[in-house]
Amino acid sequence: MNDPSQVQSLAFELIRRESVTPADAGCQSLLTERLSRLGFQCEQIDFGEVLNLWAWHGEGEPTLVFLGHTDVVPPGPPGQWRSPPFEPTVDGELLRGRGAADMKGAVAAMVCAMERFVSENPDHAGRLGLMLTSDEEGIAVDGIKRVVPELTSRGIRIDYCLVGEPSSLERLGDTIRVGRRGSLNGRLTVHGVQGHAAYPDKADNAIHRAAGAVAELVAQQWDQGNEFFPPTSFQISDIQAGVGATNVIPGRLEMAFNFRFCPESSADSLEQRVDEICQAHELKYELSWHLSGEPFFTPDGPLVEAVTRSVAEALGAEPRADTGGGTSDGRFVAPAGAQVVELGLVNATIHQVNESTLLSDMDKLADIYLSVIRKMLKGSA
Ligand SMILES: [Zn+2]
Repeated sequence: MNDPSQVQSLAFELIRRESVTPADAGCQSLLTERLSRLGFQCEQIDFGEVLNLWAWHGEGEPTLVFLGHTDVVPPGPPGQWRSPPFEPTVDGELLRGRGAADMKGAVAAMVCAMERFVSENPDHAGRLGLMLTSDEEGIAVDGIKRVVPELTSRGIRIDYCLVGEPSSLERLGDTIRVGRRGSLNGRLTVHGVQGHAAYPDKADNAIHRAAGAVAELVAQQWDQGNEFFPPTSFQISDIQAGVGATNVIPGRLEMAFNFRFCPESSADSLEQRVDEICQAHELKYELSWHLSGEPFFTPDGPLVEAVTRSVAEALGAEPRADTGGGTSDGRFVAPAGAQVVELGLVNATIHQVNESTLLSDMDKLADIYLSVIRKMLKGSA
């Protein structure tokens, strides 16, 4: 192959570090070393075993921050990989290795773009920041969720946040994400009375009790969605009841479920409606909830425009803006008032064995990121 580009070399170095979540394995210190040389201030804002890097250059407004993660999901069975998962391997036009697409390739692209911008414009307007965590793929409680309030408490307001998660579907830049659905987890416990199947009058079957409510929950239309979001979806992920014997009436049922919800519904309104359905069926029950992320939406504005134009200029076609996919750390930045847009590599192989990305896509992504920085910070002095 040709000599690797700067972006490619950096991606290789990151993939070599076995940073299975929540480990960082030296990725952030490598980036700190590079960025410090160019005059970036670099600070670790670590919580527990999670490493979080906050690096920035410049002091003015606005603040444009790139957001990413250095952790990766476990590689899975190493024998199923065509090459060792933590050995960056060039195979024709592809780079293979765990994290190539999600998202060390994009981290390399953003760092190289930031380096190029600052060396060309040392006195640029605004503040250019980089926020990285080693806890995105895991439970994500000690990562960006805690870094953003820490920055807010210091008076640092993030105006624009570009998340490098792999948003592209088939070709680089075909899709950007301008919002995400919320995610709400629930657990329902229904109480009955356990007994012998031959003596139903002495028992109260928890499955039979729950059945009507479950059917109603499944049939429910929670909202209609809107122009930018599909309707809220409800999925039962687990139901447990019974003791494994056919002659025992179960006295307890436990159900786990998840809402992916659009901004037409709120966590409160969904919780209340589930509660009402359980009451209407006269269940003896308990409900517990965990809100894993509020929905957010970034309307057309300076960041959406800069990203859209940069993609169109580099690749010849405007990206589609959508709100699909799972949650991302953008959910922790948007509530603080930032405009959040996600643009990254093609997500076709993420979390799979033999994860890969096109080598040339990493270079193009760095060019697009650089163009976004120029549009957002250069002329704003
Ligand atoms: Zn990711």
